[in-house]
Amino acid sequence: MQSASVATVDCAAQAPGPPIQPAPAALRALDIRREAPIPTWFDIGGRAEALATPDSVDDLRRCLEIDPNLRVLGDGANLLVDDDGIPGLVVQLAGQAFTRFDLSTQGTGHETQHFLIPAGARLPRLVTESVRRGLAGLEGLGGIPASLGGAVVMNAGGAFGEIAASVARVHAIGRDGRGVVLERSQIDFGYRRSGLGHLIITGVELALQPGDPAPLRQRLKDVMAYKKSTQPMAEGSAGCVFRNPTLGRDVDGIGHAGSRVSAGMIIDRAGLKGLRTGGAEVSQGHANFIVTRPGATARDAIRLMEQIQNRVRDRFGIDLLPEVVVWRRDT
Ligand SMILES: Cc1cc2nc3c(=O)[nH]c(=O)nc-3n(C[C@H](O)[C@H](O)[C@H](O)COP(=O)(O)OP(=O)(O)OC[C@H]3O[C@@H](n4cnc5c(N)ncnc54)[C@H](O)[C@@H]3O)c2cc1C
Repeated sequence: MQSASVATVDCAAQAPGPPIQPAPAALRALDIRREAPIPTWFDIGGRAEALATPDSVDDLRRCLEIDPNLRVLGDGANLLVDDDGIPGLVVQLAGQAFTRFDLSTQGTGHETQHFLIPAGARLPRLVTESVRRGLAGLEGLGGIPASLGGAVVMNAGGAFGEIAASVARVHAIGRDGRGVVLERSQIDFGYRRSGLGHLIITGVELALQPGDPAPLRQRLKDVMAYKKSTQPMAEGSAGCVFRNPTLGRDVDGIGHAGSRVSAGMIIDRAGLKGLRTGGAEVSQGHANFIVTRPGATARDAIRLMEQIQNRVRDRFGIDLLPEVVVWRRDT
C-alpha cells in the first residue's frame, strides 16, 4: 500500500503537459468537451482546453492515459482559474457513478456506521441526508459547498469541526492509474490540508455515529445560521481566500507568538474591508472573502489578493498564504 506521507498538497502545482490530442473515438467515448467553461463559485475565470466527466474509475484511467497531468475539479468552491484558461484536461467526477450515495444504516443502528461514498457526492446533500437519518459527524460542516473529494483534499471545516474527523479510509488512484486505499492513520490531515493532492480521490469511507435526529437538526440549523450571519454566502466567492496564519512572534493588536489567528481579523484590522480592484472586492461582511461584481475578472481577484498580502505585510509584518487554489497556464 502506498504511503500518504506527502508534506503539502492542498494547492499542489502541476506541470503543464503538451497540448492534448486524444484520438477522436476516445473523445466521443469520454464525452470530452473542448474549450469548456470551468464552473466555479467565483463565477469568473478562463476555460479548460478540454473537460471530461468520467463516470467510472476505468474512464478516469483512460483520462489519465490522455493527460497524466490532468486536473481534478470538485465543486469549484475553492478555485480561481486564470482568465487565459488552462491547457490540458480537467476532469469533474460529476457522473452518477461518482455522485450517487446511500446512507441506509445496517446492523442494530447503535454502532458506528461505515459508508463508502463516491468522491463527487455533494457535501451539503451528505450533511442534510446524514442529519435526516440520525447519523452524527457531518452536521458541523453545514453550509460548506464542496464535493466530498474536494472537502477531504482541503480538510474542509471550521469552528464546528473538520471532515477529517469522520474519515475512516480514502480510495484513490495515482497518476499511474493504480488504485490505493489509505487508512485514516496514514493520512496527514492538518489545518486545511490532507497531503492527498497528488492522488485522485475516487471514494471516501465515512464513519458516522448513531444519534438522535432532533438535536442534530438543531445543531445544523445553528451552524447554518452562524454561517449566514458571518459570511457573504450569496455572492460569488471562494470562501476564505487566505489561511489563518500562526504567528512567529507577538504582534501588537493581533496575537501572541505561536497562536493561530484569523486572517479575516488581520485584514479587517489593516482597514481593507471594501478595498476594490476592478470587479473584485474585499467583502464588507467577512474580510477574508473576496466577492466578485459583474464584469470581474480572475486577474482582478489575483491583483486584489496581492494587494491584501502587501498591505498586511507592510502593516503587521505577517505573510498571508492563499487557501484558495489558483489554476494558471503554468501551474
Ligand atoms: C460560500 C463559501 C463558503 C465556504 N466556507 C468554507 C468553510 O467554512 N470551511 C472550509 O474549509 N471551506 C469553505 N469554503 C471553501 C470550499 O468549500 C472548500 O475548500 C471545499 O473543500 C472545496 O471543495 P471543492 O469540491 O469545491 O473543491 P475545488 O474547489 O473544486 O478544488 C479544490 C482543490 O481540491 C482538488 N480536488 C477536488 N476534488 C478532488 C478529488 N476528487 N481528488 C483529488 N483532488 C481533488 C482540486 O484539484 C483543487 O486542487 C467555502 C467556499 C465558499 C464558496
